[in-house]
Amino acid sequence: MNFETIGLHASLLKALTESGYTEPTGVQLLAVPAALAGKDLLVSSQTGSGKTAAFMLPALHKFATAADAAQETQGKTPNQEAQSARSRNERPRFRAAQPKMLVLTPTRELALQVTNATDKYGAFMRRIKAVAILGGMPYPKQMQLLARNPEILVATPGRLIDHMESGKIDFSQLEILVLDEADRMLDMGFIEDIEKIVAATPATRQTMLFSATLDGVVGTMARRITRDPQIIQIAGAETRHENISQRVHFVDDMSHKNRLLDHLLRDVTMDQAVVFTATKRDADTIADRLNIAGFAAAALHGDMHQGARNRTLDGMRRGQVRVLVATDVAARGIDVPAITHVFNYDLPKFPEDYVHRIGRTGRAGRNGTAVSLVNHSETMNVRRIERFTKQTIPIDVVVGFEPKRSASPARPKAGGWKPGDGRNASKPGQRSFSKPSAPSREGNSYGKGARGDSAGRSRFGDR
Ligand code: ADP
Ligand code: MG
Repeated sequence: MNFETIGLHASLLKALTESGYTEPTGVQLLAVPAALAGKDLLVSSQTGSGKTAAFMLPALHKFATAADAAQETQGKTPNQEAQSARSRNERPRFRAAQPKMLVLTPTRELALQVTNATDKYGAFMRRIKAVAILGGMPYPKQMQLLARNPEILVATPGRLIDHMESGKIDFSQLEILVLDEADRMLDMGFIEDIEKIVAATPATRQTMLFSATLDGVVGTMARRITRDPQIIQIAGAETRHENISQRVHFVDDMSHKNRLLDHLLRDVTMDQAVVFTATKRDADTIADRLNIAGFAAAALHGDMHQGARNRTLDGMRRGQVRVLVATDVAARGIDVPAITHVFNYDLPKFPEDYVHRIGRTGRAGRNGTAVSLVNHSETMNVRRIERFTKQTIPIDVVVGFEPKRSASPARPKAGGWKPGDGRNASKPGQRSFSKPSAPSREGNSYGKGARGDSAGRSRFGDR
């Protein structure tokens, strides 16, 4: 099946050819026909798999065919009709925008990506306007954009709420609602805003939700806001984080660990970093210590007020904070493209958290580095992570920071690495930690279900 046999409007086919899209991606193959048929969609697939076109092409197709039909019968596009109707009834200065499609995204960057893609795909359509309404944009500029009554509105939830509440947007004509990167919007605390926005849209809308995971809170919300959705899940390489170079450094004690961390933070290839600690207190202590040592560091953890957390994250986004020292919960879902390095000052309790942690770097196809500072007694924990990710993490040693003990007496005899056998050597100067054994059924997680949310494991399987 290709874009033509899927039956997309001729103007879209032309734009796709111009864009060099010769065939649909996997997620597009499944999502586009379902969306064209009017189905609600719940989609999870990896970054870079072409999800924007997966929801934008069917939407644009719908608008293009509606415009064709209107042209034939009345010589007017539906939008022109709506506009003339409005100008008869309302004072022109305070006309609310009546979008037909709304795309919610967690960040400004993503919203702009979506509007750019829409302009590209809609380049040969008669009339289609997509605008992004974003925090940080001057208010008059936003008013000007809304006054053009765009068919497609792309927005971050917080800013949209402001405009809804001041009567600048009327969703009564909305046909399509898209939640892009829904899991990240929830991580960022947008759930109430999203619920409010959804409640303001007609129940007859078509809803498409895209998320890295469809489990847990996202899944619950997804099912609440969709009707009989088609569920599309495409497993990808994302959990493996193949664009992130991972390594383990063994340390003898705390002082060795601190000295090595300071050394690694001076890496010239480092832009910004996240250092993960086991406890909130450690996050504070280490952030203080790093600040004294001259790094622009800040702590981020659950005991901080929301205002302070936001300020820290803003500082991170603006580059004023270079090293964020964080706990697992606080750093979940953080998306700062300039994070080049993740350090596990302490290993996470659960292998799933390791995957979340290192995923803070290597965003959107960039490369990243993830370094774990490990005590000799934690060898088994590294092995569990390796089993979970089905990857081997190479051991690295920095000259001048060699551990007194070489790795590692706690290593099991069978199937493990033996000093000098070199069979898993990955790079010169690096030794492989161990060969990942085939995952046993219950061997994927520490404590076999001791964790509250046992959904954790399948969450990764779905990615
Ligand atoms: P996602 O939202 O899944 O992370 P995007 O929608 O941002 O992915 O698309 C990733 C990249 O792939 C973009 O540069 C987009 O232009 C490109 N792309 C999308 N669909 C196709 C296709 N069918 N053929 C070629 N390139 C595509
Ligand atoms: Mg996307």
